[in-house]
Amino acid sequence: MNPLVLDGKALSNQLEGELALRTAALRDRTGHRAAVLATILVGDDPASATYVKMKGNACRRVGLESRKVELGSATTTAELLAVIDGLNADPDVRGILLQHPVPSQIDERACFDRIALEKDVDGVTALGFGRMVMNEPAYGSATPAGIMRLLEHYKIELSGRHAVVVGRSPILGKPVAMMLLNANATVTLCHSKTRELAGLVGLADILVGAVGKPQFIRGSWIKEGAVVVDAGYHPGGVGDVELSTALQRCSAYTPVPGGVGPMTIASLMAHTVEAAERHARGA
Ligand code: NAP
Repeated sequence: MNPLVLDGKALSNQLEGELALRTAALRDRTGHRAAVLATILVGDDPASATYVKMKGNACRRVGLESRKVELGSATTTAELLAVIDGLNADPDVRGILLQHPVPSQIDERACFDRIALEKDVDGVTALGFGRMVMNEPAYGSATPAGIMRLLEHYKIELSGRHAVVVGRSPILGKPVAMMLLNANATVTLCHSKTRELAGLVGLADILVGAVGKPQFIRGSWIKEGAVVVDAGYHPGGVGDVELSTALQRCSAYTPVPGGVGPMTIASLMAHTVEAAERHARGA
């Protein structure tokens, strides 16, 4: 089998080009300076700092302004809530990204949920999640939204097919399962208490690996012809799926790196541009 590469890097480049045209048009129409995406980084986790930097670079490429807020690792929940309140009230800020994870003393859920719905371009609020599930307007969580965009671009059929998601985190596994359900897939959502995981993975027409453990999902579990979406990224450039073996069985797959990662950032950019356009329309 010669599996199709679901090339997130190429698609994200194409999307960024389209977004740059939209931000240029927006600046012409409104006469304003670039719309602002505020990023909040709490603490000194080097991986989080890298992700925030990558998002700032993407802002520049698409014609958005990135405003970085950096807070110390001893920041309290109250202090972070006050920063979010300030950004919610700031008329220049179109989107707010609170980089996950925050230090353990902070109530992350309370802080996510403080982000105003219209500025929740990373799709992390409980309200936004609920609206997405109900097919109401909301920016879906960025990584799941990027996965769905990639599957749509490559015309991967979802309706009636069995999607198996391994991992149920609020920012990834749970929302991608709901998005797949809304696209009429039949969804099995697996987690750390799931029994006979290998057998369930073997039923997947579409498999999403979102477990956070390097090559945890063995290639030998995967059904012939399955579509493999690997959200994981670990040192050594491996994901959550044992891709070397999976490649011998799957019909399509996301490479690591260059699959889901770039699509996450592209979705964040797309949501921020959409928020800026909505604001300009007074919507
Ligand atoms: P997370 O919050 O740590 O969640 C991991 C999930 O995997 C949990 O739901 C957990 O189940 C489940 N799990 C753990 N051990 C398991 C086992 N033995 N069997 C079955 N399920 C198990 O991770 P996350 O934030 O969702 O991230 C998942 C992966 O995606 C990571 O590799 C991360 O680096 C990657 N990621 C990539 C991007 C991107 O932009 N590319 C963005 C976000 C995350 P319980 O709920 O029962 O504990």
